[in-house]
Amino acid sequence: MSARGLAGALTVLLLSATSWGGAGLPTITHDGRPYVELARVAASLQTRLDATPASTRAHLRTRDTVVTLTRNWAQVLINGKPMVLDAPVRVKRGVWLVPQSFVGRVGPTLVAGAPAGAAPSRVGAPVEVSLEDLRVRSYPSFTRVVVETSASIAHRVESSGPKEARVRLIGLGSGAQVEEVRDGFIAEVRLERAGPDGLVRVVFEGAAGTMRASTLTDPPRLVLDVARPVEPAAREGREQLGPLKMIVLDAGHGGHDSGALGPTGLMEKDVVLDVTRRVTKLVEERLGVKVRLTRDADHFVTLRDRTSFANRERADLFVSIHANAHRESATDGVETYFLSSEATDSAARQVAALENGVVQLEQSAGRPSGQVDIVKAILWDLAQSEFHMESSRLAEVVHDSMTQTLRISNRGVKQAGFYVLGGAAMPAILIEIGFVTNPREERRLKETKYRDEIARAIFAGLAEYKRAWDQRARAAAEPPSMTRAR
Ligand SMILES: [Zn+2]
Repeated sequence: MSARGLAGALTVLLLSATSWGGAGLPTITHDGRPYVELARVAASLQTRLDATPASTRAHLRTRDTVVTLTRNWAQVLINGKPMVLDAPVRVKRGVWLVPQSFVGRVGPTLVAGAPAGAAPSRVGAPVEVSLEDLRVRSYPSFTRVVVETSASIAHRVESSGPKEARVRLIGLGSGAQVEEVRDGFIAEVRLERAGPDGLVRVVFEGAAGTMRASTLTDPPRLVLDVARPVEPAAREGREQLGPLKMIVLDAGHGGHDSGALGPTGLMEKDVVLDVTRRVTKLVEERLGVKVRLTRDADHFVTLRDRTSFANRERADLFVSIHANAHRESATDGVETYFLSSEATDSAARQVAALENGVVQLEQSAGRPSGQVDIVKAILWDLAQSEFHMESSRLAEVVHDSMTQTLRISNRGVKQAGFYVLGGAAMPAILIEIGFVTNPREERRLKETKYRDEIARAIFAGLAEYKRAWDQRARAAAEPPSMTRAR
């Protein structure tokens, strides 16, 4: 059924709410009686459904009303008051089913109990749930698929076979998309039409993983965390903190995205690539730490690919190097960021907005995607939260090193919602080495000598961070008996 067709069906269903009989919802015959899928009822009413294939009870919720259903029972509770249906609620192969009469008897209660303001749109106009965004991120132990929709939507895990895992989005009216992943675990994620629904297919490259589905609100989204199959040996290795071995350095911007622009034409993308190369040389030669670059030439790399690359490489740290811009040319100094859900101040928010603006360039470069509030998308992404402490420690060490050796204003260590840091499954920071929009800093940033100074300062910070890291790794590797003897 097309999106329009579905909308039509919903119109019929919702306009006849006063004499509601559940017309329009497909029925399933069970024990010779017509049943309707509870998830479809919830979807058509835009109510929240809490039910799992294994649970004894299911709940439909609006702001004022809770309907409690019990498997194999004909009695349901509406805000605690019993009502008896003409047949029991059933759960068939993990799918919750209600007698068709349930729709007519309980549906109007739920519509009436819906929040004010929402109710008229529900009864008068069809509510069509559409796809807002489908995104995939790879982490060392799992891959996360996020399906963002225009309104909350019921889902059902269909099967987890050896080749793929499937989740049905009940009544998703639009959207089809294929995301290539190829992270050594998942080959691709496909969103396809399946009758009136959307079907998410997570296709494995090799061995299947286990999937955990959860729903989040504001914005409404379904989060599928697919865990890699665990090899016993690999698991032990991960629990042991080893010495710091590899850093991914990320020179900001590149290609058609020039980044900030100086008054005489100095481009951020060029300065930061040069500085990044200088840091690389120092780290590899003097620290014995391997460095991988997200780009080593003047070409465009999407923000998502930068952290996906770091995750694939199993990097220990992710360091993004940028230069700043400000509409007031006098603004100067260095600042270092790590990711947070709340920006430290409104200036920090502006820097994040500026750097995140590149996502627009990515979209015009061929990624069809809905209007996404990128900053918000990051704030909601909790992947970085487990590295919050380490990221702040790394930011402080590197920032101190820079402000102590460079004669430059200290703008401090700050937190903001940077898209490029959001997907990193490791401590991650973003350094703004100076303002290309400040004529004096632009002049200095053009000099080889000054670029070397910056690179040495960043290197010294990384070296100090590595010393502390390795010390902790050694302490953790000590046999327990020695620790106890102290
Ligand atoms: Zn930048």
